Amino acid sequence: MYDIDQVRAQFPILSREINGKPLVYLDNGASAQKPQVVIDAITRGYAEEYSNVHRGLHTLSTIATEKYEGVREVVRRFLNAPSQDEIVFNTGTTEGINMIAYGWAMPRMEAGDEIVLSIMEHHANIVPWHFLRERQGVVIKWVETDANGDLDPQAVIDAIGPKTKLVAVTHMSNVLGTVVDVKAICDGARAKGVPVLVDGSQAAVHQPVDVQEIGCDFYAITGHKLYGPSGSGAIFVKRERMAEMRPFMGGGDMIDQVTRDEITYNVPPMKFEAGTPSIVSTIGMGVAIDWMMDLGMEAIAAHERSLRDHAVARLGGLNWLNLQGRSAGKGAIFSFTIEGGAHAHDISTVLDKKGIAVRAGTHCAMPLMQHLGVGATCRASFGLYNTPAEVDRLVEALELCHDLFG
Ligand code: PLP
Repeated sequence: MYDIDQVRAQFPILSREINGKPLVYLDNGASAQKPQVVIDAITRGYAEEYSNVHRGLHTLSTIATEKYEGVREVVRRFLNAPSQDEIVFNTGTTEGINMIAYGWAMPRMEAGDEIVLSIMEHHANIVPWHFLRERQGVVIKWVETDANGDLDPQAVIDAIGPKTKLVAVTHMSNVLGTVVDVKAICDGARAKGVPVLVDGSQAAVHQPVDVQEIGCDFYAITGHKLYGPSGSGAIFVKRERMAEMRPFMGGGDMIDQVTRDEITYNVPPMKFEAGTPSIVSTIGMGVAIDWMMDLGMEAIAAHERSLRDHAVARLGGLNWLNLQGRSAGKGAIFSFTIEGGAHAHDISTVLDKKGIAVRAGTHCAMPLMQHLGVGATCRASFGLYNTPAEVDRLVEALELCHDLFG
């Protein structure tokens, strides 16, 4: 039984007021709030257990190293990866995808080679590929969503040609909540011998993920959306792909030997983690993921499905609200505008006055916004602590916006 009051009680920030109103936090797609266990882990990490990792033989370094390295097994379990050695820590998905772009794709791609992307990727899964386009003539092939904002996996598979070296696709859209059938894409791509990178930044927050079942080569997650600290993240890299990958950054910790004329590398995954890492943030991410797994990813998903259904019913009843790309099976992420031309920033300002936090803008997904033909939208993105009553507060505030601007 999912005890929402007990869940909410663990997030200190949820009891604060914003502009004299109880906070309704609906900006989880951008970043999630932190439960007390994570806040305590960060405090303890600095107050009692801080030292650099992998470097010292003293007690504090040993504690910090054990805790930091222990997170690999947590992430492995979370993603059901075959081995902890296939988990590379980073500061978030942006770094994870850049690592693949520079370390794996760049050395293997030449002018005319193709990478297949969906139109609804976040800029983190677009801009690194534009770098390859600018620098070495790689061609980006876009696969569009249909009128409902859904992505046909077969269309992605059909876009794979003899020059395609990688498919990079989100598991869940941060704008529309579309859940992509990444398993079907991976099956089709594998049959054509093309690796697949899945951006799991949103999906892993809302549903169980099994990278072995999906069959992907790379799967990126970001700690701050998983109720953990910012500056933490991880990427699953299949063993075979890791063997093909070059380090993207050089520095301490990722080497075995350095002489004047030569270097040899540490074993993976350390080979891909140069310099002092985000020690305490990574430890905090491990605590957050453990906490989510204790709550149960199926239970979280079920709670959010019922929130989504309530939101679909309530928001769907506002005939002046333009909901972008809704169809069955989407997650609890809603992007909308109000008829009459009110700017998303104005709507968000009114909502803020009512204590409701949403995001307004283009959501780091400009190609999708161009495809949808909208300038900016408001986005309400729900998380594991939101309630149906908060959906109702959003609807009430939107009605006020409609009265003001409609
Ligand atoms: N991919 C998706 C789908 C996202 O929603 C985000 C963040 O909003 C990112 C990638 C980038 O994550 P980060 O900024 O944590 O690196």
